Amino acid sequence: MKLTIVGCSGSFPGPDSPSSCYLLEAEGYRMLLDFGNGALGALQRHIGLYDVDAICLSHLHADHCLDLCPYHVVRTYSPDGPRPRIPVHAPADAPRRLAAAYGMPDEPGLDTAFDFAALTPGTFEVGPFEVTTARMNHPVETFGFRVSYGGRSVAYSADTGESAELVKLAADADLLLCEASFLDRPDLPEALHLSGRQAAEHAARAGAGTLVLTHLVPWYDPADILRDASRGGFGGRMELARSGAVYDLG
Ligand SMILES: [Zn+2]
Ligand SMILES: [Zn+2]
Repeated sequence: MKLTIVGCSGSFPGPDSPSSCYLLEAEGYRMLLDFGNGALGALQRHIGLYDVDAICLSHLHADHCLDLCPYHVVRTYSPDGPRPRIPVHAPADAPRRLAAAYGMPDEPGLDTAFDFAALTPGTFEVGPFEVTTARMNHPVETFGFRVSYGGRSVAYSADTGESAELVKLAADADLLLCEASFLDRPDLPEALHLSGRQAAEHAARAGAGTLVLTHLVPWYDPADILRDASRGGFGGRMELARSGAVYDLG
């Protein structure tokens, strides 16, 4: 299983990265976790324009889902003809919300390009991957993911405040992509985002192998996020996400 960080900028794109988007590949199958604004551009550095086989959306904040709209154009209006529909696993309201964002009536919405399936907590299969979801601690319905293949697992926090569900989801994962949106300070909001320290504490409790700090918001210096994370008691390998970084999980 190979993980490519397409976009890791938190809340809005930065000069060096689009918003959230992670590419997972195994057996030639290509699945995206989130498709935030700007990600469709950077994605084309890594795979062909039409090569996405499935998409999972954690939640319907713009920085996690909005590039599904331009990707509908890609798959529907290609000069070589429309491409086959692909599955999109997303919160139940996704078809209506993304049709509205695109400027399309609810029927047909974006259905010519995408076969929407509503997420619920649990485990299901997408191509060769086993995908487990759990609800995170964020103001809108938000799902974290654990993707497993060949005995290896990647967990992804999506956006979340402190969450016992995230610790469970990431238990013994080889790699945890954990959001670290806040600089650490007393009285952080409880159900919104994590600081670097809190991300590292979650990784330590989960026993994750590698912690990749992501959803890095451009108004902060990432070095400060990493410094906060060093106080979280996590003993494993820890680094900042970077657009274009590739992790080969074997
Ligand atoms: Zn976000
Ligand atoms: Zn969010």
